[in-house]
Amino acid sequence: MTGIGVDQGVTEAPTTAPYDPKVDRINLATSLPFLTFHLMSVLVVFTPFEWKYLLIALASYYVRMFAVTAGYHRYFSHRSFKTGRVFQFILAWVAQMSAQKGVLWWAAHHRHHHKDSDGVTDIHSPVRRGFWWSHIGWVLSKRYEKTNYDAIKDFARFPELVWLNEHYLVPPLSALALAVIFGGLPGLVWGAVIPTVLLWHGTFTINSLSHVFGSRRYLTTDTSRNNFLLALITCGEGWHNNHHFHMNTANQGWFWWQIDFSYYVLKFLSWFGIVSDLKTPKHEIKYAFETYTDAQKAELAAQSKLGFNAWNDAAGLKSLGGKYATPTPEPMLAIPSPMPAPAKS
Ligand SMILES: [Zn+2]
Ligand SMILES: [Zn+2]
Repeated sequence: MTGIGVDQGVTEAPTTAPYDPKVDRINLATSLPFLTFHLMSVLVVFTPFEWKYLLIALASYYVRMFAVTAGYHRYFSHRSFKTGRVFQFILAWVAQMSAQKGVLWWAAHHRHHHKDSDGVTDIHSPVRRGFWWSHIGWVLSKRYEKTNYDAIKDFARFPELVWLNEHYLVPPLSALALAVIFGGLPGLVWGAVIPTVLLWHGTFTINSLSHVFGSRRYLTTDTSRNNFLLALITCGEGWHNNHHFHMNTANQGWFWWQIDFSYYVLKFLSWFGIVSDLKTPKHEIKYAFETYTDAQKAELAAQSKLGFNAWNDAAGLKSLGGKYATPTPEPMLAIPSPMPAPAKS
């Protein structure tokens, strides 16, 4: 199956596949809307400012961020709560209004990330492939354009979700049309352009930054971290170390001070029966860190301080031990940037 505008895409391959300039680079044609929206941000200079526009931008950002985190991530990728077929469709539609490709594409790729996080086959590990590739390069590359339907069979049995996934531009384009029809230039700029660009980068920080900056409370086989700031801009996804330690919970903030807007909304929706069976961590999981030895605690403290040194840095990776001591295969190091120089003919 192929999606709109991605007919030339190749089948998803593990990142250990040999470097191929045809697929390990940005697909300029399909990336054009992404680049254009960034350029259109300058329209803000020509748009009169009113405080209500800021509120509209915030609402546009957080409603869609909720759908991305509660929908794409916690529901479709991890099945951490239950809901009916109608609300499932609404979640998918609103999440797709974020213009982050289709619901099944998103969830299938995310499941792959958990299979070998920061290992040699991880599609977007910042500690192996650097900031730009993990943040945006892999999304825009030709290699990962197709949806691996085998990885998301449980939701691919719903024809309406497959239709949405294949026509992933329908929700964002209809939202854009409504913003312009009802809001004119301010509607375009404050309702669509600015919040969408921020929404992209907000979401992508979880792939690029939350494996590099923050503290590590739990021993996991990856470099995931907890980061308060990232949790605020991503409705709770910044508690990424919690999430990698136990991925199937509807809440990612496990303690009262770990702000998690998406979970608060899910809890609220559960009072009306719109969602149900919200999974939360058992006591022994939540407090697993209390059973760690002093050596393990020291290891986590040292890893928490790594920051930039964990970023595609051989010494940093080695100090993490385990599978990070494995050198990244040569082909992966050959694509440090999303825009490698064109192959010489
Ligand atoms: Zn991760
Ligand atoms: Zn996840």
